[in-house]
Amino acid sequence: MKKITKIRNLIKKKFLKTMPEFDKHLFVVELLDPSSKLEAYIAVHRIRGSKPSFGATRFLNYKFKKDALNDALRLSRLMSFKSIMAGLPYGGAKAVIIKPKGKFSRKKLLDSYTKGLNELAGKFVTGTDVGLNLEDIKEMKKNSKYLVGLKSNPEKYTAIGLGFSIQMISKKLFGSESFKNRTFAIQGIGKVGYEFLKIIYKDASAIYVADIDKNRLKFVLEKFPNLIIVDTNDIQKQVVDIYMPCALSHTLNKKTVKDLKCKIVIGSANNQLESEGIADLLHDKGIFYGPDYIVNSGGLISVVDEYEAHNFNASRIKKKVSKIKKIMNEVIAKSYRQKISPERIANKIAKKILDKIKK
Ligand code: NAD
Repeated sequence: MKKITKIRNLIKKKFLKTMPEFDKHLFVVELLDPSSKLEAYIAVHRIRGSKPSFGATRFLNYKFKKDALNDALRLSRLMSFKSIMAGLPYGGAKAVIIKPKGKFSRKKLLDSYTKGLNELAGKFVTGTDVGLNLEDIKEMKKNSKYLVGLKSNPEKYTAIGLGFSIQMISKKLFGSESFKNRTFAIQGIGKVGYEFLKIIYKDASAIYVADIDKNRLKFVLEKFPNLIIVDTNDIQKQVVDIYMPCALSHTLNKKTVKDLKCKIVIGSANNQLESEGIADLLHDKGIFYGPDYIVNSGGLISVVDEYEAHNFNASRIKKKVSKIKKIMNEVIAKSYRQKISPERIANKIAKKILDKIKK
């Protein structure tokens, strides 16, 4: 493959250190190719030895380039926390491709991105995040060995991890792990939301869903006809046991927390909280918030398994994902004992391990 037009190393740039989400990242590059309209950032938060750092690639509209860079910085840090809490020996990273305005060739753009990925020579291994699908990864995989998620179905294992997490806190709050008689409200029924429906549909007593994509709603409703569709502005207001943010980042803020009428918030979205303080508001309101980077780590666990084992073994992956139960139970117990939010408990544990690794 021909080389990409430009890879710009940002790590020594002064402006990077002034970005709000910069956290002594080890490696940050910008990929540019005007011929395909590629503009992307890859941020590597931490590197563990000579191993690659893991994080999916997001393909999204951004108003400003700095928003995309901040997203990559923030999400890569979250990936380090996720990897640590899942007991994986890899650093965290993230890529963000800015969706071009106007017409563009998706194939050409992703080809350019793949060339850039190859030039990093394995420092970064990636898969699908919001805006990319399995077909994209299949195409990209033809030209790069640094893509994962083709065999392991990360959405399914992310959903399984969410299920385990909900079971652990349900045992504490309702005295049973069962989804029977439980009510759910799900914001975003994309890849993960859909997989999660497969787990709860038969048992749950009511499932409210909302999605901005009408075609998606239609598709999901054909498979799961008893779903109750609600407006995207009202999904967080439903009186349910479990509210699940499974769309984009930062949907939990002062306003939405005021709206909530649930007992548990556990969802797949990364960076659900607008700030750590929002976790305290949830805690004060008596709502259990499952730290996103713990509850949604099943996908990462599954792609790392694929990377290490080169073959697919469903029961092996499920066993690894079930370790989420142990860390959830630890966080639940400490949160109740210390009377502080599960988010603060988890951050404390993750930071302690991260600091040890740095030394
Ligand atoms: P996806 O793009 O397939 O699904 C997201 C869905 O949310 C889409 O259907 C979209 O239309 C909908 N949506 C967007 N904005 C919305 C809004 N305001 N209200 C309601 N619906 C809205 O993505 P996905 O792979 O299902 O991932 C969902 C979230 O989980 C993302 O934040 C992703 O980063 C995170 N996550 C995904 C995985 C994985 O394995 N795919 C793993 C960990 C975390």
